[in-house]
Amino acid sequence: MPSDLPLYTEGDPISDQRVPVGPIESRWDRRRFSARLVNPANRRNRSVIVVGTGLAGGAAAATLGELGYRVTSFCYQDSPRRAHSIAAQGGINAAKNYRNDGDSVHRLFYDTVKGGDFRARESNVHRLAQVSVEIIDQCVAQGVPFAREYGGLLDTRSFGGAQVSRTFYARGQTGQQLLLGAYQALERQIGAGRVEMHPRTEMLDLLVVDGRARGVVVRDLVTGEVSTHFADAVVLATGGYGNVFHLSTNAKGCNTTAIWRAHRRGALFANPCFTQIHPTCIPISGDHQSKLTLMSESLRNDGRVWVPKNAQDTRTPNDIPEGERDYFLERMYPAFGNLVPRDIASRAAKNISDEKRGVYLDFADAIARLGAHAVQERYGNLFEMYERITGDDPYRVPMRIYPAVHYTMGGLWVDYDLRSNIPGLYVIGEANFSDHGANRLGASALMQGLADGYFVLPGVIGDYLADAPFEPLTQDHPAVADTVSEVRGRVKTLLAVDGDRTVESFHRELGRLMWDECGMERDEAGLRKALDRIPELREEFWQRVKVPGTGARLNQELEKAGRVADFFELSELMCVDALHREESCGGHFRTESQTPDGEARRDDARFSYVAAWQWTGAEPVLHKEDLVFEHVQPSTRSYA
Ligand SMILES: Cc1cc2nc3c(=O)[nH]c(=O)nc-3n(C[C@H](O)[C@H](O)[C@H](O)COP(=O)(O)OP(=O)(O)OC[C@H]3O[C@@H](n4cnc5c(N)ncnc54)[C@H](O)[C@@H]3O)c2cc1C
Repeated sequence: MPSDLPLYTEGDPISDQRVPVGPIESRWDRRRFSARLVNPANRRNRSVIVVGTGLAGGAAAATLGELGYRVTSFCYQDSPRRAHSIAAQGGINAAKNYRNDGDSVHRLFYDTVKGGDFRARESNVHRLAQVSVEIIDQCVAQGVPFAREYGGLLDTRSFGGAQVSRTFYARGQTGQQLLLGAYQALERQIGAGRVEMHPRTEMLDLLVVDGRARGVVVRDLVTGEVSTHFADAVVLATGGYGNVFHLSTNAKGCNTTAIWRAHRRGALFANPCFTQIHPTCIPISGDHQSKLTLMSESLRNDGRVWVPKNAQDTRTPNDIPEGERDYFLERMYPAFGNLVPRDIASRAAKNISDEKRGVYLDFADAIARLGAHAVQERYGNLFEMYERITGDDPYRVPMRIYPAVHYTMGGLWVDYDLRSNIPGLYVIGEANFSDHGANRLGASALMQGLADGYFVLPGVIGDYLADAPFEPLTQDHPAVADTVSEVRGRVKTLLAVDGDRTVESFHRELGRLMWDECGMERDEAGLRKALDRIPELREEFWQRVKVPGTGARLNQELEKAGRVADFFELSELMCVDALHREESCGGHFRTESQTPDGEARRDDARFSYVAAWQWTGAEPVLHKEDLVFEHVQPSTRSYA
């Protein structure tokens, strides 16, 4: 696309029609009360498809099954409990205030709105803070082995962007333990016959019939068979799209296909350019690396981040004396120190070092203060993982870390009920855009996924299902037949190209371009360059991609090819979104919009809105949802 052509057009503004007005503290109660219910006896006649079995989807499918709905669940892994949520390390936030350190629902709400740089909805975030308390009770009841203090209370630690200690954890395996809790609840429902589980099955399209989401088209990844599944409502819990950057901390399989296909069927895509770059990952080690490894943010509780004062210093870290070290986060942000939010820590690290050398995360002080045993109790598995990958022992040598793509705040647009603009299509967890604004605080994704899955969705979906069951569908309905034939056609085309370039090489090139031009810092020239290059690369992909094998059996190259094809389209929208937002906010730093001392400069007068994009096949249409702040007044974020 030559850069002087219009990149988008502007459509009508939109608003969230479902959020109740009145005191923010009682909005969630009032919405639950006003939402219609489905009588328990009728629930078995209402069907729901849940795509995704991570914390959001697993929790939702288990809860809807428990409520008595007929649930069909899909994931592309061989087991629901291998969803990417299992990788989450550090913890989950909740406003329990067990530490008596001044935490409250209001403080968690305040920290999250501020942490998100005032680009999230107040009502959603307040509900999230309220529900956080219930999540911990639910998980404890399931037997999730949260860390405990000597006295028996659940232990907490601190995460970035907060001055209280509200992060509950299970060593460095919090996601795994939470997912096992959700998984056993899901398995119970599978055993009871209320959830039908389809592992190794990938959703390749959404069925929209008469304006409603009515099902999905899926491909069995083992046999290659394409089939349809119908339901009264569809829930997408398909995770984030950070892998558009090729290198990220996400599992290799994470992708955008489910939400991108829904977007192409009419679902609005909100804030696609809001990407979180995590400050503490193991630096890149070579050109052919396939993924990056996160070192949990929890390490910043006790680890101190520094670089040599002399950038050319070639000594090993232990040989650099204290006076020649720059603890730059403590120097620049004394109030929050090493626990500033991720966007701020990442940018500071990038400005001070490069991606091969990284910066040091040093535990010497913590080991001297607490003893190696206490440090091992808190972070043992993370230290072990680091040593296995790098060969260095972090008990003796500071870790080397560098920022990497980690989380996507953007996703499908949803209202207060987590419903997209397509009736019957709900989107939960990382797949939606909802609660984190322009920057997610650490330990808030698990909170949001479980809030959505265990409490919010089950609390309101009845309002929609009260009108069901809808018209029975058959394969020969034109909308169904057309969608299936498009899916089959696409698979066939990918196989037919039979070119000379691997899917991986296209993905790597796209990812590098996105990292360079739409990564931690963006500017107009770079974004326009990316917008010129992406369509060329996409065109080349469809001419030259080589997908070996057939579509009639397990073919991971074919799976990857479909996902990368969708990344091409998404990346273009991300760049358009980043280009149109001429302000810096959270994870979106426009170099043209900064203060003289290099901090992000937000522009509330022009950009205090959610950017919700509509697919047209040509230039996307931008719909703005204005953000209203009544309880937390937008201010310049200060962590100094
Ligand atoms: C290394 C790492 C550590 C993290 N640590 C923390 C932490 O400590 N605290 C915190 O709050 N957050 C953390 N996060 C973020 C958090 O883990 C994720 O945001 C969260 O787990 C996402 O959950 P989800 O249920 O939305 O999606 P996922 O867990 O990604 O699950 C997606 C599901 O959708 C399925 N799926 C996707 N596409 C399709 C398709 N087309 N067809 C069929 N199925 C599909 C997958 O099979 C999977 O079951 C971490 C993230 C990473 C990468």
